[in-house]
Amino acid sequence: MASALSMSSALYGCAPATTETSPEKTVQSTTLEEGQVLVSTQQEYAEAVKSLQPGDHIVLANGRWEDFEILFSGKGTEDAPIRLSAETPGKVLLTGQSNLRLSGEWLDISGLVFTDGFTPTREVISFRRTKGDLANNSRVHNVVIDDYNPTERTSADFWVMIYGKNNRFDHNTLVNKRNRGVTLAVRMDTEESRENKHRIDHNYFGPRPILGSNGGETLRVGTSHYSRSNSFTLVENNYFDRCDGEVEIVSSKSGGNVFRNNTFYKSRGTLTLRHGNDSLIERNVFLGEGEDHTGGFRVINARQTVRDNYMEGLTGSRFGGALVVMNGVPNGPINRYDPVIDSVITNNSLINSDNIQLGAGSDAERSAPPTGTRMENNLVVHEEGRNSMTVYDDMSGITFKDNVSNVALKPLANKFNVQDVKLQRAKNGLLYPVGDVTAGAPKDLVVTQADQTGASYYPKAGVATEFGSGKTHMITPGEGNLAKLVAQAKDGDTIRLRAGTHTVDRVIPIKNTLKFEGIGGATILYERDALFEIQDGGSLRVEGLTISGADTPDSAGNVVIRTSPYSMLKNYRLEIADTVFEDLDINHSFDVISAAKGTFANHITLERVKVSDATGHVLRLDRELDDNGIYPAEYLTISDSEFSNIGGTIADVYRGGTDESTFGPHVTVTNSKFDKIGANKRNKTGGSFRLHGAQVTLLEGNTFTDARPVIIDHTVGEPKTRLMNNDFGQSATPRIVELNSDKKNTAILSGNTGMKK
Ligand code: CA
Repeated sequence: MASALSMSSALYGCAPATTETSPEKTVQSTTLEEGQVLVSTQQEYAEAVKSLQPGDHIVLANGRWEDFEILFSGKGTEDAPIRLSAETPGKVLLTGQSNLRLSGEWLDISGLVFTDGFTPTREVISFRRTKGDLANNSRVHNVVIDDYNPTERTSADFWVMIYGKNNRFDHNTLVNKRNRGVTLAVRMDTEESRENKHRIDHNYFGPRPILGSNGGETLRVGTSHYSRSNSFTLVENNYFDRCDGEVEIVSSKSGGNVFRNNTFYKSRGTLTLRHGNDSLIERNVFLGEGEDHTGGFRVINARQTVRDNYMEGLTGSRFGGALVVMNGVPNGPINRYDPVIDSVITNNSLINSDNIQLGAGSDAERSAPPTGTRMENNLVVHEEGRNSMTVYDDMSGITFKDNVSNVALKPLANKFNVQDVKLQRAKNGLLYPVGDVTAGAPKDLVVTQADQTGASYYPKAGVATEFGSGKTHMITPGEGNLAKLVAQAKDGDTIRLRAGTHTVDRVIPIKNTLKFEGIGGATILYERDALFEIQDGGSLRVEGLTISGADTPDSAGNVVIRTSPYSMLKNYRLEIADTVFEDLDINHSFDVISAAKGTFANHITLERVKVSDATGHVLRLDRELDDNGIYPAEYLTISDSEFSNIGGTIADVYRGGTDESTFGPHVTVTNSKFDKIGANKRNKTGGSFRLHGAQVTLLEGNTFTDARPVIIDHTVGEPKTRLMNNDFGQSATPRIVELNSDKKNTAILSGNTGMKK
């Protein structure tokens, strides 16, 4: 662009004729400044980008740009960067198969929104054109990527990949990544990308739903392959809001990184110093609010510093605890755990957080406990008096000094000054001890708030719609069409069915959050092979109904509730309460609930439910058979329910693979009765339950009569299995198998009766 002004007038003078999709035009009221070019088509953009000079500025016209693969290439200078921006920030939408690549020097990109589509390549935003053509000294800011996912949740891509050196990614909003692949990663695969000094700051990392497999990290700096190189990446003032993808929220896999002043809000997992030495974690705030699996940080490797952090309400356990110091492998290979050496953990506050783990992972391979390490001036307060300390190895390599706790932290009770600590919430929202206790996080800690992060124009993500939060629609038997009513119902609405028999002649698709509620004895008789089909974005609650399969087709494989046969990106919720299912025996393999491959439930809950005479499974959750760690539901809960004459299992849950990247599945079964379960010859599991790879299992207070065994396969890690106070009726005696471990079975059984020897 020899003369930006003349180029711009040329573009205005004769807009090239083009057949490509041009953005929906809005009134062009933008006043252009010197060096600015407003482009309205991909062809105009291609012209404008050809010969960019320092100080040039391409402005994309407001509207939808479909299938636009932006290559932004040029050499600006520090004083005169080359810019690409939106006519109005937030009004330029990149949709369909769009993406962005940067190459060159001193580039500045802002104001774009990627939504309603997905990248055709591996990355949405890439700081390189090719492996040899990188971007340096460049900045991407005020950009949004929202729900920009491929149709298959297991197909992997990355939303942002930073290569090169001295790049900045700031004030961006990244929300609703639902497929496999890290949200943002710093890559160091060539020399030109190491010691990169990138800055990642003031971003809003919005909800990242549970992925249900490995590959759900939000931020990764480096990879294990180059992990003994330094990255020197600075990650500060970011807000991590419900980043629940997997066990690692942030994975630092290189040396010399700084994580400062970030807020982790209700996020499952930890900030992990997985590989690399000499990193610093300081002044971060972790607020778990008692949510499951919320964690703090995990220390591995040498010369790490963790200081002045604040943690409150974190429930995470094991590797996902509030403060975890790992054991390492002496002189191990690059992809294993290096021992913790010469590290410093000081002035951290751990408030009402459940688990501190020292020497975690200690086993025959990870035999090296921390050495040369100091823990000083930390404050541990659990207002319920819980001892949060677990020690797995010899901790004589850690020097403890001036730590304070309100509970004797056995077995390290003598390493903490135990005293009564009264807490008071300070102006910054954090709890501090009253009086002269000086241990813990500094009083001048400033908490990064959500509204200080992310793209300025973009709203922060909300929470899932609650069942019953919308309008109520009444329906009387024989009047109106239930399917039609459902099609018109809005997110959160309730369909209330009056007493009597409602005949349903088609499969009811559930596309949003809907509740079905029977009053005064409402029965549904349905005529197709399924009553409800949960589709992407749908969640279902059923309450107070009787559902009969007596009028379904006389063919095999009917079901009451199923998920879409296609991959669903959005996690669904399914709740059933006070409901009776009957006559599910018109033919064989009649299931109550059946989940298709590629679909994932946040929770499935059965409460005060009665099921009788089903030829198939009550919960068929066995379609993820690839043994790569994918599973179908995070929480499965059955309580106060009765089941009789069920041909298949009550629940067939399959989570294959041996990686330790997920918290689930969790299975809880309490106070329920099981009579004549699992005897059908088509029940290939041979059990009344088959729980393969569940991470957390509780069976308590249940009664089994004439039921096949409860089959539990431990596949990975240290699954928590507890079977308490059940009566197995001499028939359902559990069979618990360790499939990939030579360790003793870790299941806890107590108070059970009716166990066959
Ligand atoms: Ca992982």
